[in-house]
Amino acid sequence: MRGFIDYRMAKRALVRQVTRGLVPIKDVCDAHPELLRAARNIGATTSRTCPICRLADDRADVPIDETQTLRLVTYVFGDDLRQKSGHVVWNREELDDLSRAYRSFTAYVVECCLVCGWNHLAESYLLGRAHAG
Ligand SMILES: [Zn+2]
Repeated sequence: MRGFIDYRMAKRALVRQVTRGLVPIKDVCDAHPELLRAARNIGATTSRTCPICRLADDRADVPIDETQTLRLVTYVFGDDLRQKSGHVVWNREELDDLSRAYRSFTAYVVECCLVCGWNHLAESYLLGRAHAG
């Protein structure tokens, strides 16, 4: 994928800061109600687990809850998209349609936990006709 950026390093660093008490949990579990709604209704499931829920399980010394509470929500941004810029993409088909219809834009995938509200940018990449093939 063109312009693919993985934000796992930044995520790990942030989770480490939370572990050390340098960043309060409420500051990283602050998902906007609209993001939470999108995550619940159209978010894609992922095999990843929520790092904050995992932390809570560790602290409470209870078995890790394997329930998939983490959802991936994709937003699209770009001047070419005009009024569609900043919109949530509903599914893979819509993303493919946008890729064919517009020259260039960026897709941002945000992970969001339905239980604790953890949210973090997971990855971003370029889409559109200019980047096809
Ligand atoms: Zn969580």
